[in-house]
Amino acid sequence: KQLNVALVGLGKYSTGQLAPALQETKLCRLAGIVTGSPEKVPVWKAKYNIPDKNVYDYKSFDRIIDNPDIDIVYVVLPIAMHAEYTIRALQAGKHVICEKPMAMTPTECRQMIDAAKKAGKKFSIGYRLHFEPHNMEMMRLGQKEIYGPIKRLVADNGYVFNNDTPWRVDKELAGGGPLVDLGIYCVQGVVYTKGQIPASVTAKFTPKPNNGLFKEVEAGVNWQFQFADGSVADCRTSYAESLPNRLQAEAAKGKFELSPAFGYGGIKGTTSKGPMNIQNVNQQALQMDNFADCILNNKPTRVPGEMGLRDVQLMAAIYRAAETGQKVSTKDVQNIIDRT
Ligand code: NAD
Repeated sequence: KQLNVALVGLGKYSTGQLAPALQETKLCRLAGIVTGSPEKVPVWKAKYNIPDKNVYDYKSFDRIIDNPDIDIVYVVLPIAMHAEYTIRALQAGKHVICEKPMAMTPTECRQMIDAAKKAGKKFSIGYRLHFEPHNMEMMRLGQKEIYGPIKRLVADNGYVFNNDTPWRVDKELAGGGPLVDLGIYCVQGVVYTKGQIPASVTAKFTPKPNNGLFKEVEAGVNWQFQFADGSVADCRTSYAESLPNRLQAEAAKGKFELSPAFGYGGIKGTTSKGPMNIQNVNQQALQMDNFADCILNNKPTRVPGEMGLRDVQLMAAIYRAAETGQKVSTKDVQNIIDRT
């Protein structure tokens, strides 16, 4: 049996990645769309054979409650809209995947988690790299201490933002700048490789370029997580500078790293013993099939709302550290790890 997915928001990620991936999934398929752009409807209907009854706009969306043909709603909207559309979909009795970052604030995240519990529906975050074999190998090597305990991690993710999606530098719609969009991969990467939540963080914003784009959000931030065992993770993210896309771990008995680490494909891994020699896969297809499997076989997802909350809390701590110049404790952060 295949579960039917409706994509909410037909922007770059839905168009370029999720809809094509849904042509490769085994346990789910693209069956519906929710869009505020009427001109996209005929294109999507024709390309993906979507019937009229599975097409919604943002006003008619709640009527999806009466549509037994849609099992999963996938929220792929600007961040400020994640909580509202996730909660509306759950209230309509649908299972939900919500894109990263989960929401604007920890409070919104908790409301989403509560809505899923109340509805008795499955809920996950679009953390595709938890299903990507190189990143899964980093989890295994780090968490199982194959090269001994990790002493230091490095994670960088940044590119020069060209304002192609202006909501990304609009604080009301994005909540933040490159940290919440790109830096979240560094947050995720160091936590799943170390297998621990950091104890504290120090951070510093990088200078803003004179291009008028960063009136509301940061242009970049560098931060260090400190773990309870004395190890650290040095991380950088930016919309003003192209950074090496990488996740590195230095452990007592060797090193292991991915470079590039966080893309949709082309990921390469190396350890002290040589290349990882792992095949790249369609991450989004595996991620969505895993969610469908969780629904069909009533299993917990490895990337639940609680993990989305954890990362929103960690990013809030990074912002606080950068704004105050102080070391910020992360003792109140949701304690959840994807264990290998
Ligand atoms: P995008 O700007 O290309 O698409 C956003 C969509 O939302 C557009 O179709 C737009 O029409 C619609 N929209 C509705 N109301 C809007 C409003 N008020 N302002 C702007 N757009 C509005 O963005 P995207 O790159 O597709 O990102 C969408 C979501 O997907 C974000 O949450 C982003 O973080 C996430 N994303 C995840 C990955 C990943 O690898 N997991 C990659 C890219 C994007």
